[in-house]
Amino acid sequence: MSGAARNAAERPASSIGDLYDEVGVLIEEAMGGSLHYGYWNGADDTSDMRTASERMTDLMVGKLGARPGDRILDVGCGNGRPALRLARASGASVLGVNIAPKQVAAANEHAEREGLADRVRFTVADAGDLGVAPGSFDGAWLFESLLHMPDERAVLRELHAALKPGARLVIANLVLLDRLPEERIRQLRPLWETFQIASLLPLAGYPALLKECGFDAGEVLDISENSVQRTMETILGAQAGFREEGLDEPLTLIDWLARTTEAGYAIVVAVRRPDEG
Ligand code: SAH
Repeated sequence: MSGAARNAAERPASSIGDLYDEVGVLIEEAMGGSLHYGYWNGADDTSDMRTASERMTDLMVGKLGARPGDRILDVGCGNGRPALRLARASGASVLGVNIAPKQVAAANEHAEREGLADRVRFTVADAGDLGVAPGSFDGAWLFESLLHMPDERAVLRELHAALKPGARLVIANLVLLDRLPEERIRQLRPLWETFQIASLLPLAGYPALLKECGFDAGEVLDISENSVQRTMETILGAQAGFREEGLDEPLTLIDWLARTTEAGYAIVVAVRRPDEG
């Protein structure tokens, strides 16, 4: 093993930004432009990765329901492609935040190139310390980014503060499909750490977690069957590039994700509760 993977395994979770700055372009090439899973309509859906990835973004756009003029926060925004697609489809303005500075620079270039820089802006920030005015956003999403954040509660509370009462938060994330015994989590943790996954939460635990952080959970959608296996097969098809970058260990993780029934993928819609008292 060499390069990024070895460093990824040795580095603390706070350097997640380095990981994405180093290998983000490789991942986006393998994953069809963005850095999230695809969505396939069923076994006979022969869509390529890019089409399936854009379909996943469109599903998220639909769940968020942003309107023209809304201000939307994209936390863990990658290279900005999902935010740009959201802005085009909805007419909303988007602020994307990301801990990886090179990705933020690339995202701002994409916004300029697509003529959307007046409505879509990207900035470097940690999800736990967004640095935005309280109650200033009409909606937000955490699009396949919460898994990298060790303190989910801090992030959700930060989003509660940033959002207006009644605003929607949409989360797309890898999840555990069952509550696993502590012993099993301990076994899996080193595998997750090969790609700086800080934690995977049981899907059934999301409503309580959201409630604790000031949100009401609405729809909870298990889309494992539409997303996980096909996406992982796509990445395994790009193994050569991953190995060249020293990403051998994450390939073991990807192999586990492709076969396991312990983990899956979900979209959760939440609504920010009004302040109490
Ligand atoms: N939402 C994008 C990117 C998903 S990859 C997409 O769907 O394409 C996860 C992203 O979260 C990466 O860009 C990574 O740099 C970012 N990220 C991880 N931890 C973060 C944190 N604590 N604060 C802000 N961004 C973070």
